[in-house]
Amino acid sequence: MAPDKNLILVLNSGSSSLKFAVQNTGQRTPVLSGLAERLGGEGPSITFKDEGGKRTAPLPRADHAAALDAVVAELAARGWIEALVAVGHRVVHGGERFTGSVIITPLVIADIEACNPLAPLHNPPALLGIRVAMERLSDIPHVAVLDTAFHQTMPREAYLYALPMEQYRSYGVRRYGFHGTSHRFVAHEAVGLLGLDPADHGLVTAHLGNGASATAVQDGCSVDTSMGLTPLEGLVMGTRSGDIDVGAVLHMMRTEGLDVAAIDTLLNKKSGLLGLSGLSNDCRELEAAAAKGHEGAILALDVFAHRLARYIGALAMSLRRLDAVIFTGGIGENSPLIRAKTLARLQPFGMALDADANEKVIRGRNGVITRAGDKPCAAVVATNEEWMIACDTAELARKAAG
Ligand code: AMP
Repeated sequence: MAPDKNLILVLNSGSSSLKFAVQNTGQRTPVLSGLAERLGGEGPSITFKDEGGKRTAPLPRADHAAALDAVVAELAARGWIEALVAVGHRVVHGGERFTGSVIITPLVIADIEACNPLAPLHNPPALLGIRVAMERLSDIPHVAVLDTAFHQTMPREAYLYALPMEQYRSYGVRRYGFHGTSHRFVAHEAVGLLGLDPADHGLVTAHLGNGASATAVQDGCSVDTSMGLTPLEGLVMGTRSGDIDVGAVLHMMRTEGLDVAAIDTLLNKKSGLLGLSGLSNDCRELEAAAAKGHEGAILALDVFAHRLARYIGALAMSLRRLDAVIFTGGIGENSPLIRAKTLARLQPFGMALDADANEKVIRGRNGVITRAGDKPCAAVVATNEEWMIACDTAELARKAAG
């Protein structure tokens, strides 16, 4: 298959991995995608996936440059380099500097670098990916798409913590929110799916994957969200605790003598579904165990749904009107059980589950899962962050070309 002259390479660069997708701007599924793994470790490899299937190959070196060289070589072998028009990079933290996607310049790199203290695990690998890609693909524009940008429309009362203002002014301690690309995409899709007015609607979008967050979207703009300065705040996640009384953290530090590193690991890596269940961070595995009566799994799923419902209720108060609750992400798109448990707790909104529809809307399908005529309603919308990044990248590249 020879794609048109409008391919976008989408890169998501993590500390030990490089995820990539080649999007043809005319279609939503990538023409090629894959993942380079164990960068910086033993036995680095890269997997390519296209409509013909999957293929994994070893990498000659365990670094991001070797991974990108392999991607570029694959594109060259397919005769696609000439068709490549731009590269879109996912960047986790853009602080207050970025309110939308931008063409990457030296100044933009410096601004992303300035946000490193806010996302020490995520931004440095993204910057590394940007530098390596800009060296190798230097003739085309590179675009940064930031997870935080969509939430920059939040009003002050939603993003400020009740701390001395010095913390915000001097150190940027405030709520930023994440998963912005996903919330923006599903909110936009939901408006079409539900026939809402693009200029007058209120949604709560729940992105439920290994990381999870919910956002209040008013007329296409984020007005409140569950994640904060870091992606630790808010909902119960795979291994993250989400909300916790800071007093409880201080208590654990005092009574168990835990230091900062130990607390960081406890809250980010050992908590959430994994900590509650004592079994797994994986929702599918927990559902299977719960069906067999595993007490920890049942408890973990219930706490997850309770916290989510509580957040949906709270976020609705940041809207003028709630039209719909939208589920997305690996869990939101594929778990009728979590959706049912959550909606059972949303009775004060006067909506009720359509059990039949709920079972049917899975595996990338979109659809309403509440009774016909319920207002507000609930629906599932499959997210597609790579596509959204590709769209932003293509648009900015087009504008840059004049
Ligand atoms: P993500 O981070 O968006 O890829 O989502 C990962 C989460 O989605 C994991 O907790 C998976 O267990 C969960 N998930 C994927 N498929 C299913 C399914 N069929 N039922 C329940 N959870 C699922």
